[in-house]
Amino acid sequence: MPYYFLLGLLCILPLMGLVYAQDPAQTSGEKPKVIILLGAPASGKGTQAQRLAQDLGIPQISTGDILRENIRNGTPLGKEAKSFMDAGRLVSDELVLNMLFERISRPDAAKGYLLDGVPRTIPQAEVLDKKLTDVKLVVVNLDVSDDTTFKRLEGRLTCKSCNNVQNKYFSAPKVEGVCDKCGGELIQRSDDKPEVIKERLRVYHEQTEPLIQFYKNKGLLKTVNGEQSPDQVLAELKAIINKA
Ligand code: AMP
Repeated sequence: MPYYFLLGLLCILPLMGLVYAQDPAQTSGEKPKVIILLGAPASGKGTQAQRLAQDLGIPQISTGDILRENIRNGTPLGKEAKSFMDAGRLVSDELVLNMLFERISRPDAAKGYLLDGVPRTIPQAEVLDKKLTDVKLVVVNLDVSDDTTFKRLEGRLTCKSCNNVQNKYFSAPKVEGVCDKCGGELIQRSDDKPEVIKERLRVYHEQTEPLIQFYKNKGLLKTVNGEQSPDQVLAELKAIINKA
Protein backbone atom coordinates (compact mmCIF):
# COMPACT_ATOMS: atom_id res chain seq x y z
CA MET A 1 0.00 0.00 0.00
CA PRO A 2 2.69 2.62 0.91
CA TYR A 3 4.49 1.58 -2.29
CA TYR A 4 1.45 2.52 -4.43
CA PHE A 5 1.04 5.73 -2.47
CA LEU A 6 4.67 6.71 -3.15
CA LEU A 7 4.34 5.81 -6.83
CA GLY A 8 1.21 7.96 -7.12
CA LEU A 9 2.95 10.86 -5.41
CA LEU A 10 5.90 10.59 -7.78
CA CYS A 11 3.53 10.83 -10.75
CA ILE A 12 1.50 13.75 -9.39
CA LEU A 13 4.31 16.02 -8.14
CA PRO A 14 5.83 16.86 -11.54
CA LEU A 15 2.34 17.60 -12.92
CA MET A 16 1.66 20.03 -10.08
CA GLY A 17 4.96 21.71 -10.84
CA LEU A 18 3.83 22.13 -14.43
CA VAL A 19 0.54 23.73 -13.42
CA TYR A 20 2.26 26.26 -11.15
CA ALA A 21 5.08 26.92 -13.60
CA GLN A 22 2.47 27.98 -16.18
CA ASP A 23 0.95 30.54 -13.85
CA PRO A 24 3.35 33.45 -13.18
CA ALA A 25 0.78 35.12 -10.91
CA GLN A 26 1.03 32.12 -8.56
CA THR A 27 4.81 31.84 -8.55
CA SER A 28 5.61 35.54 -8.33
CA GLY A 29 3.03 36.07 -5.60
CA GLU A 30 1.59 38.94 -7.65
CA LYS A 31 -2.10 39.57 -7.18
CA PRO A 32 -4.25 39.52 -10.32
CA LYS A 33 -5.11 43.03 -11.52
CA VAL A 34 -8.78 43.91 -11.82
CA ILE A 35 -9.34 47.13 -13.71
CA ILE A 36 -12.66 48.92 -13.36
CA LEU A 37 -13.40 51.47 -16.06
CA LEU A 38 -16.00 53.98 -14.95
CA GLY A 39 -17.61 56.59 -17.13
CA ALA A 40 -20.83 57.73 -18.78
CA PRO A 41 -22.22 55.78 -21.73
CA ALA A 42 -19.90 56.28 -24.75
CA SER A 43 -17.11 57.73 -22.63
CA GLY A 44 -14.81 55.28 -24.45
CA LYS A 45 -14.86 52.45 -21.89
CA GLY A 46 -15.58 49.75 -24.48
CA THR A 47 -13.02 50.94 -27.03
CA GLN A 48 -10.29 51.38 -24.43
CA ALA A 49 -11.11 48.12 -22.64
CA GLN A 50 -10.81 46.25 -25.95
CA ARG A 51 -7.38 47.76 -26.66
CA LEU A 52 -6.12 47.33 -23.09
CA ALA A 53 -7.31 43.73 -22.93
CA GLN A 54 -5.27 42.91 -26.02
CA ASP A 55 -2.28 44.73 -24.67
CA LEU A 56 -2.38 43.20 -21.19
CA GLY A 57 -3.46 39.71 -22.26
CA ILE A 58 -6.46 39.66 -19.93
CA PRO A 59 -10.16 39.51 -20.89
CA GLN A 60 -12.47 42.49 -21.26
CA ILE A 61 -15.70 41.79 -19.45
CA SER A 62 -18.56 43.97 -20.63
CA THR A 63 -21.89 43.28 -18.97
CA GLY A 64 -23.62 45.19 -21.80
CA ASP A 65 -22.02 42.86 -24.39
CA ILE A 66 -22.96 39.74 -22.42
CA LEU A 67 -26.55 40.99 -22.11
CA ARG A 68 -26.76 41.77 -25.85
CA GLU A 69 -25.40 38.31 -26.66
CA ASN A 70 -28.13 36.79 -24.47
CA ILE A 71 -30.74 38.88 -26.28
CA ARG A 72 -29.43 37.72 -29.68
CA ASN A 73 -29.54 34.10 -28.51
CA GLY A 74 -33.05 34.51 -27.07
CA THR A 75 -32.07 33.18 -23.62
CA PRO A 76 -34.39 33.71 -20.60
CA LEU A 77 -31.79 36.16 -19.21
CA GLY A 78 -31.84 38.11 -22.49
CA LYS A 79 -35.65 38.18 -22.50
CA GLU A 80 -35.68 39.53 -18.95
CA ALA A 81 -33.10 42.24 -19.72
CA LYS A 82 -34.33 43.45 -23.12
CA SER A 83 -37.19 45.72 -22.06
CA PHE A 84 -34.98 47.48 -19.50
CA MET A 85 -32.18 47.99 -22.00
CA ASP A 86 -34.49 49.26 -24.75
CA ALA A 87 -35.89 51.82 -22.30
CA GLY A 88 -32.42 53.00 -21.24
CA ARG A 89 -32.89 51.65 -17.70
CA LEU A 90 -30.54 49.42 -15.74
CA VAL A 91 -31.27 45.72 -15.38
CA SER A 92 -31.42 44.35 -11.81
CA ASP A 93 -28.28 44.21 -9.68
CA GLU A 94 -28.93 40.55 -8.91
CA LEU A 95 -29.12 39.53 -12.55
CA VAL A 96 -25.98 41.47 -13.48
CA LEU A 97 -23.95 40.21 -10.51
CA ASN A 98 -24.88 36.54 -11.08
CA MET A 99 -23.89 36.92 -14.71
CA LEU A 100 -20.65 38.66 -13.76
CA PHE A 101 -19.62 36.12 -11.11
CA GLU A 102 -20.19 33.27 -13.55
CA ARG A 103 -17.95 35.07 -16.07
CA ILE A 104 -15.11 35.88 -13.68
CA SER A 105 -15.02 32.30 -12.40
CA ARG A 106 -13.80 31.09 -15.81
CA PRO A 107 -10.11 30.15 -16.11
CA ASP A 108 -9.21 33.01 -18.48
CA ALA A 109 -10.06 35.52 -15.73
CA ALA A 110 -7.71 33.97 -13.16
CA LYS A 111 -4.88 36.39 -13.94
CA GLY A 112 -7.04 39.50 -13.94
CA TYR A 113 -9.62 41.20 -16.14
CA LEU A 114 -11.06 44.53 -17.20
CA LEU A 115 -14.56 45.45 -16.15
CA ASP A 116 -16.41 47.60 -18.67
CA GLY A 117 -19.87 48.81 -17.64
CA VAL A 118 -19.89 47.18 -14.21
CA PRO A 119 -20.31 48.13 -11.39
CA ARG A 120 -23.01 50.60 -12.32
CA THR A 121 -24.74 51.12 -8.99
CA ILE A 122 -23.57 51.49 -5.38
CA PRO A 123 -25.06 48.09 -4.39
CA GLN A 124 -23.13 46.43 -7.25
CA ALA A 125 -19.92 48.14 -6.11
CA GLU A 126 -20.48 47.06 -2.50
CA VAL A 127 -21.01 43.41 -3.43
CA LEU A 128 -17.95 43.49 -5.70
CA ASP A 129 -15.92 45.08 -2.96
CA LYS A 130 -16.64 42.14 -0.65
CA LYS A 131 -15.93 39.61 -3.40
CA LEU A 132 -12.68 41.09 -4.74
CA THR A 133 -10.49 40.78 -1.68
CA ASP A 134 -7.37 39.16 -3.08
CA VAL A 135 -6.81 41.30 -6.16
CA LYS A 136 -5.05 44.54 -7.07
CA LEU A 137 -7.94 46.86 -7.87
CA VAL A 138 -7.42 49.76 -10.29
CA VAL A 139 -10.32 52.16 -10.85
CA VAL A 140 -10.26 54.77 -13.60
CA ASN A 141 -12.99 57.23 -14.48
CA LEU A 142 -13.13 58.40 -18.11
CA ASP A 143 -14.40 61.93 -17.83
CA VAL A 144 -16.56 63.31 -20.69
CA SER A 145 -19.22 66.04 -20.90
CA ASP A 146 -22.91 65.23 -21.49
CA ASP A 147 -22.70 67.07 -24.81
CA THR A 148 -19.92 64.83 -26.11
CA THR A 149 -21.71 61.76 -24.76
CA PHE A 150 -24.86 62.65 -26.66
CA LYS A 151 -23.06 63.11 -30.00
CA ARG A 152 -21.02 59.96 -29.56
CA LEU A 153 -24.11 57.87 -28.79
CA GLU A 154 -26.39 59.32 -31.41
CA GLY A 155 -23.77 58.82 -34.13
CA ARG A 156 -22.49 55.44 -32.91
CA LEU A 157 -22.53 52.55 -35.35
CA THR A 158 -21.59 49.08 -34.14
CA CYS A 159 -20.51 46.22 -36.39
CA LYS A 160 -22.82 43.20 -36.07
CA SER A 161 -19.92 40.84 -36.82
CA CYS A 162 -16.78 42.14 -35.07
CA ASN A 163 -18.18 44.71 -32.59
CA ASN A 164 -16.00 47.44 -34.16
CA VAL A 165 -17.41 50.86 -33.26
CA GLN A 166 -17.56 53.75 -35.77
CA ASN A 167 -19.39 57.06 -35.63
CA LYS A 168 -21.33 58.80 -38.39
CA TYR A 169 -19.90 62.18 -37.27
CA PHE A 170 -16.35 61.37 -36.15
CA SER A 171 -15.31 58.20 -38.03
CA ALA A 172 -17.84 57.73 -40.82
CA PRO A 173 -17.64 54.37 -42.62
CA LYS A 174 -16.07 54.48 -46.12
CA VAL A 175 -19.17 52.73 -47.46
CA GLU A 176 -22.44 53.59 -45.71
CA GLY A 177 -23.61 50.81 -43.39
CA VAL A 178 -20.46 48.72 -43.90
CA CYS A 179 -17.78 48.12 -41.27
CA ASP A 180 -14.36 49.50 -42.33
CA LYS A 181 -12.61 46.70 -40.44
CA CYS A 182 -14.35 43.49 -41.52
CA GLY A 183 -17.01 44.45 -44.08
CA GLY A 184 -19.80 43.41 -41.68
CA GLU A 185 -23.08 45.26 -41.28
CA LEU A 186 -23.01 48.44 -39.16
CA ILE A 187 -26.10 48.99 -37.06
CA GLN A 188 -27.36 51.60 -34.60
CA ARG A 189 -27.96 50.00 -31.22
CA SER A 190 -31.62 50.07 -30.24
CA ASP A 191 -30.67 52.01 -27.09
CA ASP A 192 -28.75 54.69 -29.06
CA LYS A 193 -31.96 56.48 -30.13
CA PRO A 194 -32.23 60.12 -28.91
CA GLU A 195 -35.05 59.58 -26.39
CA VAL A 196 -33.31 56.50 -24.95
CA ILE A 197 -29.96 58.35 -24.80
CA LYS A 198 -31.54 61.08 -22.63
CA GLU A 199 -32.86 58.43 -20.24
CA ARG A 200 -29.49 56.63 -20.13
CA LEU A 201 -27.78 59.90 -19.24
CA ARG A 202 -30.34 60.58 -16.50
CA VAL A 203 -29.85 57.06 -15.11
CA TYR A 204 -26.06 57.51 -15.32
CA HIS A 205 -26.11 60.71 -13.24
CA GLU A 206 -28.55 59.26 -10.71
CA GLN A 207 -27.17 55.74 -10.22
CA THR A 208 -23.67 55.41 -11.64
CA GLU A 209 -21.97 58.78 -11.09
CA PRO A 210 -22.04 58.30 -7.27
CA LEU A 211 -19.47 55.52 -7.81
CA ILE A 212 -16.86 58.21 -8.45
CA GLN A 213 -17.20 59.39 -4.84
CA PHE A 214 -17.43 55.77 -3.61
CA TYR A 215 -14.00 54.91 -5.05
CA LYS A 216 -12.58 58.35 -4.18
CA ASN A 217 -13.41 57.63 -0.53
CA LYS A 218 -11.47 54.39 -0.79
CA GLY A 219 -8.48 56.26 -2.22
CA LEU A 220 -8.67 54.20 -5.41
CA LEU A 221 -9.96 56.63 -8.00
CA LYS A 222 -7.89 57.86 -10.94
CA THR A 223 -9.33 60.13 -13.62
CA VAL A 224 -8.50 60.44 -17.31
CA ASN A 225 -9.88 63.12 -19.61
CA GLY A 226 -11.98 61.03 -22.02
CA GLU A 227 -12.31 63.89 -24.52
CA GLN A 228 -8.70 63.49 -25.69
CA SER A 229 -7.79 61.37 -28.72
CA PRO A 230 -8.28 57.61 -28.18
CA ASP A 231 -4.48 57.10 -28.41
CA GLN A 232 -3.84 59.72 -25.72
CA VAL A 233 -6.49 58.17 -23.46
CA LEU A 234 -4.95 54.73 -23.99
CA ALA A 235 -1.46 56.01 -23.16
CA GLU A 236 -2.67 57.57 -19.88
CA LEU A 237 -4.61 54.43 -18.95
CA LYS A 238 -1.57 52.24 -19.58
CA ALA A 239 0.60 54.50 -17.43
CA ILE A 240 -1.89 54.28 -14.54
CA ILE A 241 -2.26 50.49 -14.81
CA ASN A 242 1.48 49.84 -15.07
CA LYS A 243 2.15 51.97 -11.99
CA ALA A 244 -0.50 50.21 -9.88
P1 AMP B 1 -23.53 49.25 -22.08
O1 AMP B 1 -23.26 48.47 -23.31
O2 AMP B 1 -22.51 49.06 -21.02
O3 AMP B 1 -23.84 50.70 -22.38
O4 AMP B 1 -24.89 48.64 -21.45
C1 AMP B 1 -26.11 48.64 -22.18
C2 AMP B 1 -27.28 48.41 -21.23
O5 AMP B 1 -27.12 47.15 -20.57
C3 AMP B 1 -27.41 49.42 -20.10
O6 AMP B 1 -28.08 50.59 -20.50
C4 AMP B 1 -28.20 48.60 -19.08
O7 AMP B 1 -29.56 48.51 -19.45
C5 AMP B 1 -27.58 47.22 -19.23
N1 AMP B 1 -26.43 47.04 -18.34
C6 AMP B 1 -25.14 46.82 -18.69
N2 AMP B 1 -24.34 46.71 -17.62
C7 AMP B 1 -25.15 46.86 -16.54
C8 AMP B 1 -24.94 46.87 -15.14
N3 AMP B 1 -23.72 46.71 -14.61
N4 AMP B 1 -26.02 47.05 -14.33
C9 AMP B 1 -27.24 47.22 -14.82
N5 AMP B 1 -27.53 47.24 -16.13
C10 AMP B 1 -26.50 47.06 -17.01
